[in-house]
Amino acid sequence: MFTINNYVVATSLEEAYTVLTKNKSNKILGGTLWMRMGSQNIHTAIDLSKLGLDTIVETKEAFEIGAMCTLRMLELHSGLQAYGNGMVSNCVKDIVGVQFRNGATIGGSLFSRFGFSDPLTALLALDTYVELYKGGTISLEAFIEGPYEKDILIKIIIKKEMSLTGVYLTERLSHTDFPVLAVAMTQSLAGYKVAIGARPSKAALAHETMDYLNTITSGHERSPLSNEQLEVCGEKVVEELNFATNMRGSQHYREHLAKVLVKRGLRQLRG
Ligand SMILES: Cc1cc2nc3c(=O)[nH]c(=O)nc-3n(C[C@H](O)[C@H](O)[C@H](O)COP(=O)(O)OP(=O)(O)OC[C@H]3O[C@@H](n4cnc5c(N)ncnc54)[C@H](O)[C@@H]3O)c2cc1C
Repeated sequence: MFTINNYVVATSLEEAYTVLTKNKSNKILGGTLWMRMGSQNIHTAIDLSKLGLDTIVETKEAFEIGAMCTLRMLELHSGLQAYGNGMVSNCVKDIVGVQFRNGATIGGSLFSRFGFSDPLTALLALDTYVELYKGGTISLEAFIEGPYEKDILIKIIIKKEMSLTGVYLTERLSHTDFPVLAVAMTQSLAGYKVAIGARPSKAALAHETMDYLNTITSGHERSPLSNEQLEVCGEKVVEELNFATNMRGSQHYREHLAKVLVKRGLRQLRG
């Protein structure tokens, strides 16, 4: 269990950022589900709950998801359930249980950039941006690959894409365990995106596989890919991304899973 020495309920993002950067061990609080697993000593904890960051706003162009929205809110939002075959809602449904998802926040989930993260993988296969107090609005991919700097994640923006279909698949040793491997794929008029997470390192886009898919087929085609094309995609993913061993699975097992899930996902995407 962690220790909090001082507690500040921020009245503005500016105040939150000023307090955050005042001391090395000052911390933003999300739902604290992850933080309470550790034993850190926090000088000042910063509560964002009074800043109105707990809404999901859907417009014609985008979803704007406040950092303090819980995973359960993403799961139940009717717009997200309808968009991209509900891949965002689906990606959180196996995380522990309903009570847990009622507490864990999307801000805490993305800012931590966990290797095993389901939402990080699913959102990477969409046209997703994060709005940071100091760092501004950047693509999720740039955020994942960028340095870990003190900042506040304010909201997540998912820009809607035309004719988007999506799929989210994982393999877990038991129903609510961390994923051994996570695969998210989308097809839209803009082309394909293939994101692989829990390798066990953090989610990454398989750019060469995406280029291959975009070369052999266009965004509006939905006819099934040939077995040969599916095989090529599975092989490409394993060649271009690194897979490794941890307590949940070996590198070899993950590579095998990646091939199987990529082929299965593409079959689902293309009907
Ligand atoms: C037992 C257990 C099982 C889990 N299983 C899974 C799983 O299967 N799949 C999966 O994807 N995830 C899983 N998770 C992770 C979980 O879904 C959340 O991602 C995690 O709890 C972080 O969210 P939180 O709101 O609890 O963040 P917190 O614990 O409050 O914060 C985590 C970190 O993020 C920082 N932070 C929080 N909010 C912000 C913000 N707005 N801006 C900047 N920094 C911020 C905090 O300072 C802290 O460093 C699991 C977690 C636990 C404890």
